[in-house]
Amino acid sequence: MKIVILLGPPGSGKGTQAKRLQQTFGLAHLATGDMLRAEIASGNALGRRVKSIMDAGELVPDHILVALIRSRIARPECRHGFILDGFPRTVPQAEAFDRLIAEEQLPRPIVIEFTVFEPELVNRLSGRFTCQTCGASYHDHFHRPRVEGMCDFCGGHEFVRRADDQPEAIRTRFRAYREQTAPLLDYYKRTGDIPLEVDGMADIDGVTRQIEAVLGGVAQR
Ligand code: ADP
Ligand code: ADP
Ligand code: ZN
Repeated sequence: MKIVILLGPPGSGKGTQAKRLQQTFGLAHLATGDMLRAEIASGNALGRRVKSIMDAGELVPDHILVALIRSRIARPECRHGFILDGFPRTVPQAEAFDRLIAEEQLPRPIVIEFTVFEPELVNRLSGRFTCQTCGASYHDHFHRPRVEGMCDFCGGHEFVRRADDQPEAIRTRFRAYREQTAPLLDYYKRTGDIPLEVDGMADIDGVTRQIEAVLGGVAQR
């Protein structure tokens, strides 16, 4: 049982790498942004509540995310472990998740930090498009599907660009990252789950190799 937390700014490659790790290590991929976008697509009350917050690039209230994660990790596909992509994003979320770990007697998380310079993040987000069916990320220049027009992971043919991958929302998301998410790096130093740093500026295969090396080197806890 492994719990892996991918920590890094918007566009640093968390989703891209999580999709690969999911296959290699048999872990479930829990992407909170994808979950929230699914709520919006279904048009329910929660979706209606979070849509304008997400479009603006702001963070959705902590209690909503904690409830979402709590119900997800109880599902059978998480029993061998899971990758958290986009959660926790604030210190209160991390504290709530630690209480959940204690309650459910789960192992401590392996925290992986992606470092990428901001100008590169802007290039990545402004060229990003995603598979409508499974959420896989692609890029106009850096990462096209192997077969043009078809998703590598699910065979889907519909692709979308996210409303929040626009300059103003990108700026708001970077600010949210700096102010609310980056403090988690110190938080996990204090809990002893020292973040393992990977150079997110490398190409996609290079980042995958770094993560496999650090995960391979972490004893099963
Ligand atoms: P995040 O989930 O952290 O927001 P994504 O995985 O969606 O990031 O990646 C953001 C964009 O950058 C996507 O368009 C993706 O195809 C592209 N990308 C991801 N990793 C790399 C990389 N190592 N080099 C170049 N482009 C990348
Ligand atoms: P990225 O990693 O590319 O920034 P995500 O898909 O992870 O994007 O998140 C998109 C949006 O979903 C965030 O800007 C935020 O509005 C909302 N969101 C996702 N996860 C969380 C979270 N843990 N806490 C608060 N809001 C979240
Ligand atoms: Zn797909």
